[in-house]
Amino acid sequence: MIFPQLLRFTLLFLPSLLAATTKPKLPACPDAAHAEYDFVVVGAGAGGGPLAARLAENGFSVLVVDAGHDVVNVNTTIPFYFSRAVEDPQLELNYTYNEFSPGAKFPRDGAWYPRARGLGGSTIHNALINNIALTGHDFDNIAAMFNDSTWSNENMRQYFKKIEHNLYLNQSDPDHGFHGWLKTNVNPTSVLANPMFADPQLIDIATTLATSGAPIDDLNSVVNDAAIGAANPSYTIDESHNRSSVHDRLVDVEAASSSGKGKLDFMLDTLATKVLLCDGEKPKAYGVEIARGAALAVAGNFKGKEKILKTESVRVRYEVIVSAGVFQSPQLVNHDEVANIWTLKQNHSLFAGCTVLSDPKQDPCLEYWIESDHQNLYSFGAALTMIMLKSSPAQPQPDMMLYWAPAFFRGFVPGFADEVAEIHNALTAIALKAHASTRGVVQLTGNHPQDPLHIEKRHFEAGVSGKQDIAAIREAIKVARGIVGHPNISQHVEMQAFPQGGDGSDEDIDDHIMQHVFGHHACCTNPMGQEEDPHAVLDGDFQVRGVDGLRVVDISSWPNVPGWFVTTTTYMISEKAADVIIAATKRAKPY
Ligand SMILES: Cc1cc2nc3c(=O)[nH]c(=O)nc-3n(C[C@H](O)[C@H](O)[C@H](O)COP(=O)(O)OP(=O)(O)OC[C@H]3O[C@@H](n4cnc5c(N)ncnc54)[C@H](O)[C@@H]3O)c2cc1C
Repeated sequence: MIFPQLLRFTLLFLPSLLAATTKPKLPACPDAAHAEYDFVVVGAGAGGGPLAARLAENGFSVLVVDAGHDVVNVNTTIPFYFSRAVEDPQLELNYTYNEFSPGAKFPRDGAWYPRARGLGGSTIHNALINNIALTGHDFDNIAAMFNDSTWSNENMRQYFKKIEHNLYLNQSDPDHGFHGWLKTNVNPTSVLANPMFADPQLIDIATTLATSGAPIDDLNSVVNDAAIGAANPSYTIDESHNRSSVHDRLVDVEAASSSGKGKLDFMLDTLATKVLLCDGEKPKAYGVEIARGAALAVAGNFKGKEKILKTESVRVRYEVIVSAGVFQSPQLVNHDEVANIWTLKQNHSLFAGCTVLSDPKQDPCLEYWIESDHQNLYSFGAALTMIMLKSSPAQPQPDMMLYWAPAFFRGFVPGFADEVAEIHNALTAIALKAHASTRGVVQLTGNHPQDPLHIEKRHFEAGVSGKQDIAAIREAIKVARGIVGHPNISQHVEMQAFPQGGDGSDEDIDDHIMQHVFGHHACCTNPMGQEEDPHAVLDGDFQVRGVDGLRVVDISSWPNVPGWFVTTTTYMISEKAADVIIAATKRAKPY
């Protein structure tokens, strides 16, 4: 075990915090009258962005510090370019990690986990899937854990409605919001009526997938929270078929705030290097230490550790909120995902001429997208259909999802964006295990802010539960292969391309799982939990236990990885955090 020897309140994102918080004597707290801001939020992503905007709108002065800058280009705005965004050097915040602990049958050290830095954090490079299903129990479990009904699914659904600006349903739908800041949409299937894109092969595949399970009309409705069957995904895409994310929300609130309502400032390309603590009743966060222009150690363009960082400090009147993402603290949980790919006899017509490049002269598809007012492949989110199932009848809830894409996608491996762009005759099924048992570690390797982290995901290493998770994924892969065996689809299949060969036995599938499992919802490294839980870093109000004035609000705050997908639900908890902080601040005096 890596983390128990660390004090709870040092289980945070910055290696140097460990040094700061274990000092025997903290300085006296400075006069709050000299603080530069009411709040500092470190990290402008799914966790930090919504609450920073809300605090500013409520009249507070807020500084958002982020290690990246404001990147607006074809990669971050055109939905189908998400794979390019993941490999965009301007954004990349690349971590390397080991999939398993030492001694694994298929050692996979030095694997790649892409994150984005910049205004919007990873929400400007993710796959735009807007899915809050299967989180009803997750929220109700948190409510039960803290005996706090504000965490109940019923109450948390209010936050979904508050943030959503639904563009595809009737406004009378009681489960959705129509006036929030997050635009949600479905793929523009009307594009497929264009004779240029006529594609009987794709129609056969799409209709067969859609009827492979009971039809689910709206995966994000209350009644379908734990539904089994087949659904169309929805995406965070706006009315012009561009990406919608908290990036735009931050930009809008910052622009409006200069006219007097609260104050939202951004300090970009800036590394937060330490949370500053002083000697209050408990240790008290009074600000952050920052280094402008210092790239993160894990970032793609990192040139090496700087011996001495030129730092300065920013003080707060009320609180520091850490929203720096999952990988800066020492415990890890994840979804497990495994791809199975087939090549087809014909290319998808919709992909003709598409090279997914930024220059329309080199990409006729981009040229057409611009000229046709966004009426082609590039307006599409990548997944065709999602099929939710139980890996065995004994499961109380669906535990496996198969999501299908008409693309070649092995998982997040370097160069995957070129494969997506260049191979036009593929069909991928990704088996995703919900509520996986995988528990990994994030280990500090030193106390310099630019020291790399040692990360092990440790897939399936949780004893019996790990074996059950492998079996569940194996069953889902068999279901996927069965669906592709349906004559409507098999008539179009050239070959199974990934994995190739093999005898299809359980052992063969398990080897494929171990060799290619990936996961892109790493989470829960600063989990909320009860006082007596030695792993609980946060209480139910996101406060770091043992420290005043310090909260963590991002994907690391979850006690367990939620539902099937994580971004919209992390937006929801960020909005909840804003309510909690505003209420607490009204009660409190500045320190
Ligand atoms: C390739 C990929 C595709 C995905 N697709 C989907 C999807 O389709 N749907 C879905 O629901 N989820 C998806 N996810 C998951 C989702 O995008 C993330 O889990 C979510 O954005 C995490 O939010 P966060 O606030 O915790 O962190 P982030 O959004 O990553 O934000 C953290 C921010 O903190 C900043 N930061 C970090 N350290 C410091 C520091 N020391 N100083 C200053 N700033 C710092 C970073 O620059 C970054 O901007 C995907 C993930 C990956 C990897």
